[in-house]
Amino acid sequence: MTRTPLTDHVTVEEMTDSHHGLDNDCPQALAGNLMRTAMKGEEARAILSAHAKQDCRLLGIRGYRCLAENNACGGSEFSAHMEALAMDFQPDPDLFELRAAWDVLRNHPTFMLDVDQLIIERGCLHFGLPTARHNFIPRHELRLDADVNGRRTYPLFGIWTAPHA
Ligand SMILES: [Zn+2]
Repeated sequence: MTRTPLTDHVTVEEMTDSHHGLDNDCPQALAGNLMRTAMKGEEARAILSAHAKQDCRLLGIRGYRCLAENNACGGSEFSAHMEALAMDFQPDPDLFELRAAWDVLRNHPTFMLDVDQLIIERGCLHFGLPTARHNFIPRHELRLDADVNGRRTYPLFGIWTAPHA
């Protein structure tokens, strides 16, 4: 299996492999976004590792989705994954429950500054960076997941605000 480093701990393959047998290579025009998203993933890893006082691997990383991939995995119509501006991952389950990791990230003084959405999404954490659709302005949304009559929903938990100095 080819492993092409994108950042220290994130590979191109993790960020672009299809889970549905599709051609899901990231277009060159989105390469900068893919890198930025991977760097943000490194930031999440560093924050979680500092909190756990040991290295917190990020498992099950997923990033870019072309339209067909997004449709195949039931992503939302305007998913930031399609702009290579979102990442899903599972923090090392020996170190964090999903909700605990979500809490660490949202309570960090600066992690959310440039995050559009932080979501517990289908057994993963998802962060999205601001997209053109919202004029590249982060909405700072904190969302959890919930089953409503068998349908997965992501109700708004709150809007992150920067801690007061
Ligand atoms: Zn996602």
